[in-house]
Amino acid sequence: MDFRLPDDHKMVRNPISRFVENELIPLENEVLKNEREGRPSLSEEKLGELQLKAKEFGFWGINTPEEYGGADLGQMMMAIVYMEISKTFVPFRFGGSADNILYYGNEEQKKKYLIPTINGEKKSCFAMTEPDAGSDTRNIKTTAVKDGNEWVINGEKTFITGGNEADFVMVIAITDKEAHARTGREGVTCFIVDRTMGWKSEYIHTMGEWGPAGLVFDNVRVPEENILGELHGGYKLGLEWIGFARWVVGARAVGTAERLLQMAIDYSKERFTFGRPISDRQAIQWQIADSAVEIEAARWLTLNAAFTLDQGEDNRHLAAMAKLYGANMGNRVVDRVLQIHGGMGYTRELQIERWYREARLWRIYDGTDEIQRMIISRNLLKGHVKIGDFI
Ligand SMILES: Cc1cc2nc3c(=O)[nH]c(=O)nc-3n(C[C@H](O)[C@H](O)[C@H](O)COP(=O)(O)OP(=O)(O)OC[C@H]3O[C@@H](n4cnc5c(N)ncnc54)[C@H](O)[C@@H]3O)c2cc1C
Repeated sequence: MDFRLPDDHKMVRNPISRFVENELIPLENEVLKNEREGRPSLSEEKLGELQLKAKEFGFWGINTPEEYGGADLGQMMMAIVYMEISKTFVPFRFGGSADNILYYGNEEQKKKYLIPTINGEKKSCFAMTEPDAGSDTRNIKTTAVKDGNEWVINGEKTFITGGNEADFVMVIAITDKEAHARTGREGVTCFIVDRTMGWKSEYIHTMGEWGPAGLVFDNVRVPEENILGELHGGYKLGLEWIGFARWVVGARAVGTAERLLQMAIDYSKERFTFGRPISDRQAIQWQIADSAVEIEAARWLTLNAAFTLDQGEDNRHLAAMAKLYGANMGNRVVDRVLQIHGGMGYTRELQIERWYREARLWRIYDGTDEIQRMIISRNLLKGHVKIGDFI
């Protein structure tokens, strides 16, 4: 068994690492200034320029199948890419990508929504959560009622990432009330709904530097052909969308924590108190050691979740573990690193407070800590997985 990264993975990691160092990290001060003066962190033009630069290195459509012009790197490589890219808070995303569930579209939908999204001409968002249905998605109330060749959607969604900017939403609505009432999983359908069809969005202010949106559907009429996947098959699509996002949180936390820990190591050697650098103190050394151990643990959990998916196996148990542990590790590390920086860590002179606020979200979205624990313990208690599986 060889735990080292194979050469082809290093060939992906090294150029990404250089891209982050040479192109993204130098933009951090500009991003902080923009955000503090109420402007978008990065303009669309700047993001476009960066995406083209990344494309020169071959990083375009990293999770997009080759038949759609993507690099289709596979999950392990994606995990490594996310770990590298998360060493900065510059909100860069690779061009040439689309939500995983858009590939369930028929040929017409692929032409109208998938390809323009991959090409960066359209923006999408995914809407499951409602004011009364977050962890408990079975509680959704948004309905779609058939009227001739159209479906009429009514309801409210909340906390939708990208909902302020999206040209279309993939929204989950109840299409068979009785079936939905029976299990909460049946009788829901995913619809592709253009903004021009009439839904409205409103910005939600959060602790972070970007806000999700609340969406309102008031008698929004959607043609029959805009059903994504199967009628009443929306729950499965929802799980698939969330499932991908889940282990990626682990990868993001690893990258960010690595960068933060390096900042703490550097600072602790420069900062003198009582005639000695604080790095000489055991109180500081232990915080560094604990962080390093936890980063490695999160790295291997995340890589195993990604590797398992690459083998075509069910990775949901590992993904829940990678998300739970990674998100909490990231929060512990950013807190320690802020502590090691003392008062300076608390200021807006440094980037740490920004990461501190951002990391808090990791424990909430794509399934809270409590929901991940529920999944992990249920799998073990019901015997779906055994301790020590997945090696
Ligand atoms: C910035 C942001 C972006 C988001 N993006 C999207 C998006 O793009 N699309 C989308 O559909 N959703 C999105 N969400 C929604 C997100 O997935 C939900 O906020 C999350 O699932 C939690 O739901 P909730 O907020 O309703 O909390 P609740 O479900 O009300 O939970 C409240 C508390 O109770 C706990 N709890 C709930 N049930 C149990 C239980 N059975 N046992 C123990 N504890 C429990 C929870 O863990 C939590 O601590 C986003 C949220 C945020 C904040």
